[in-house]
Amino acid sequence: MAEKNEIPYKIYLNENEMPVAWYNVRADMKKKPAPLLNPETHQPCTAEELEHVFCKDLVAQELNDKDPYIQIPQEIRTFYKMYRPSPLVRAYCLEEKLGTPAHIYYKFEGNNTSGSHKLNSAIAQAYYAKKQGLKGVTTETGAGQWGTAMAMATAYFDLDCVVYQVKCSYEQKPFRREVIRTYGGKAIPSPSMETQIGRKMNEDFPGTTGSLGCAISEAVEHAVTHEGYRYVLGSVLNQVLLHQSIIGLETKTALDKYGIKADIIIGCAGGGSNLGGLISPFAGEMLRGEKNYRIIAVEPASCPSLTRGVYAYDFCDTGKVCPLQKMYTLGSSFMPSANHAGGLRYHGMSSIVSELYHQKLIEARAVEQTEVFKAAQQFARIEGILPAPESSHAIKVAIDEALKCKETGEAKNIVFGLTGTGYFDMKAYESFNNGTMSDYIPTDADIKKSTDLIPRFSGNEF
Ligand SMILES: *Cc1c(COP(=O)(O)O)cnc(C)c1O
Repeated sequence: MAEKNEIPYKIYLNENEMPVAWYNVRADMKKKPAPLLNPETHQPCTAEELEHVFCKDLVAQELNDKDPYIQIPQEIRTFYKMYRPSPLVRAYCLEEKLGTPAHIYYKFEGNNTSGSHKLNSAIAQAYYAKKQGLKGVTTETGAGQWGTAMAMATAYFDLDCVVYQVKCSYEQKPFRREVIRTYGGKAIPSPSMETQIGRKMNEDFPGTTGSLGCAISEAVEHAVTHEGYRYVLGSVLNQVLLHQSIIGLETKTALDKYGIKADIIIGCAGGGSNLGGLISPFAGEMLRGEKNYRIIAVEPASCPSLTRGVYAYDFCDTGKVCPLQKMYTLGSSFMPSANHAGGLRYHGMSSIVSELYHQKLIEARAVEQTEVFKAAQQFARIEGILPAPESSHAIKVAIDEALKCKETGEAKNIVFGLTGTGYFDMKAYESFNNGTMSDYIPTDADIKKSTDLIPRFSGNEF
């Protein structure tokens, strides 16, 4: 109990302790993540090619695998200060309830209106678009968090924000849609009639409720066909992981302040941005041979790219307009079942996270949905925060690891990323509470069907 006096429930850093530079883990990787390839020539994408789609400064960040630190511009720091530094919370009540000798900490990213870590990158991407003198940005949103975050960020910098929202989410999540509109964003249900690819999808699949891959293709088409617009993406890309490194840098500063050495670091993994951001500084220490950690990426068993995908170059979108990226992938045609893994339902994975996993620096675990919601409910009742379903994947594994410590009697320090709140996910909670939630695990044949469609070319053997 004496300890309770030493480590507060919430470790809040002050403004001056907030990082002034993002950390680029690629700089410390001996074997770098593979470059993006032009889908036609299979040659590495040049900055010039990428600048047709993305903002110039963001392309430079995307391709930069040399500089370990990249200054955070003052304007972004000013915005960060409105909701950061975020607290690192010691889950004393959860520890007590579990009866574990482990110490559990979570980094809480849900303290902003968009409700998740996505704002950390949205504000950076909006800033660079503004700096370039653009009129606006286009993007897609599946579960809705990214669209919300981007609408907030573009409102701040007075930019247009065109969001292609997957039609089923547009219809089933009117609240997210209205948050986007309140911040001045334009939400368009996808597939739409605004783009060639949208019109084709509507013609080929009448009544379709859309997919994330299709919404990406529409947003990219909109950007390249409208003067003064560029496309922005909320996960997967190197630049997004770079911006999200603020999560890990703050976590490390907070731990160091109290002399705490993390043993296990856990994050949920959809496209890999929060996980990549949380672990970057720690992975950096491992890569430089300074320290060791166990790092666990948690993904849904319904969309298991790391644990069951192949490591190959693949398309990032169904329309196949984006560059090819080397990653753990289930194939761009993989359709996860219509369950609630929400923001984690992406067929691929960040190439940085993929390469670190390939080098066995991090582990991966797939968990089933009802188990995840059991953990979410337990966490909500004990720690008070209603977690996002995505975040609850990390909670589930943190609890599992804490219970293992109970068996072995080890007082390990477990740190996990609590990426957001779940207020807009009450439909999923409803189905859990009603006992109608089901688990879906794709068969090997399901996965093979889509991995068989991954493009094969010399240099892409898998
Ligand atoms: C989008 C989202 C995720 C998953 O995205 P990553 O890029 O893998 O971090 C996780 N949690 C929340 C709350 C999200 O909104």
